[in-house]
Amino acid sequence: MADCIFCKIISGAMPGHKIYEDDDFIVILDIFPATDGHALIIPKAHYTDAFELPDELSAKVLPLAKKIADAQREVLSPPGFNIVQCNGVAAGQTVFHYHLHVIPRYDSGKDIVTWNQRQEKTESLEKTCAAVTGKLDGLI
Ligand code: AMP
Ligand code: ZN
Repeated sequence: MADCIFCKIISGAMPGHKIYEDDDFIVILDIFPATDGHALIIPKAHYTDAFELPDELSAKVLPLAKKIADAQREVLSPPGFNIVQCNGVAAGQTVFHYHLHVIPRYDSGKDIVTWNQRQEKTESLEKTCAAVTGKLDGLI
């Protein structure tokens, strides 16, 4: 896609710090890393988000993330990892070409992946549970 930063890196039109490549994916270091080693797994074909990514590629992403994390663990010795992925502006996505963040974690500092939690009424949980379960029954 013409205006896509990640497509430009994949085509070689823009530089990137590539740590891995296969037929389906490249893995680059994030240019604004959360931590040392922060990597992005990016499909070579342009898909906006996880909902566009074909199941065949989705099935390959987490096994690849584990391999990347194994290598990062050997070299950087992080005691933990965040493996996260954003879909849509409301979820914080800023580059609209699917990518999975593999973020080595060295401490539980303020940049930990977090969200505000709240108390929820049982009735509300039950209502949402019934609505989503009912929809899934028709889809799966
Ligand atoms: P997200 O907010 O989940 O869409 O993440 C996009 C990520 O892409 C951010 O962490 C950016 O720092 C990173 N990023 C943006 N431009 C580049 C680039 N040219 N090379 C590497 N990473 C980039
Ligand atoms: Zn793209």
